[in-house]
Amino acid sequence: MIKLENVNVEFGEFKALQDINCSINAKDFILILGHNGAGKSTLLDVVSGRLSPTSGKILRNNEEISALSEAKRARFISRVFQNTHMGSVSTMTVAENLAMATLKSKKAGFKSAIKNFPEQIVEETLKPLGLRLEELLNTPIGILSGGQRQIITIIMATLCEPDILLLDEPTAALDPVSTENLLQFVQNFTKNRNMATMMITHAEQQAKFLANRTWVLQKGQLNTGS
Ligand code: ADP
Ligand code: MG
Repeated sequence: MIKLENVNVEFGEFKALQDINCSINAKDFILILGHNGAGKSTLLDVVSGRLSPTSGKILRNNEEISALSEAKRARFISRVFQNTHMGSVSTMTVAENLAMATLKSKKAGFKSAIKNFPEQIVEETLKPLGLRLEELLNTPIGILSGGQRQIITIIMATLCEPDILLLDEPTAALDPVSTENLLQFVQNFTKNRNMATMMITHAEQQAKFLANRTWVLQKGQLNTGS
């Protein structure tokens, strides 16, 4: 589906990614591991179009997209960052944030976003707060815990039905229980979708149950284990 061919990213003399060759297929769940500075976020940057490779190609369904802007790729590639405050507006309610995300997505309607509000979120997000769905929707997203907010952010990111969901350390700001809940949510939320997920994480042991592939980056070099 998405393929990287001989991708290099250089910052001056520094080689952040070296000769990366890999492909991401529909329904893959790829864990990306590696030390700080190994190039993990840079790899997601070249997939999402935030960065252009210094050399090499990015293909989608055999069509080159290396020159396609991040904004254009956003129709089929969505990204969620480790900071739970990114991707939503604190002072806006959950419903307003969802509505904003549906505006960006031409495919999904706000009503269907709410109608299909996952059962599990209702269970995990609302019950502990003693909220009903209607109340959650009318709660400013900034009042939610980091884990709950990250769950809503992931829902928002997937309303456009992307081919690929990119998660950059989505649990980095979360406590162990919220981490566990978020990973469980991610599994349930992604397993029946026709969507690939690439997730950078330091919580390898907790997250490995999710993955069908594990990639390791080391000083800009990628080991896909194959
Ligand atoms: P990580 O694996 O921790 O996500 P990154 O992909 O963020 O690592 O960064 C890989 C390396 O590239 C790091 O050494 C980082 O300092 C460097 N780097 C990242 N972005 C830039 C940039 N815009 N300019 C210069 N160096 C950068
Ligand atoms: Mg990073």
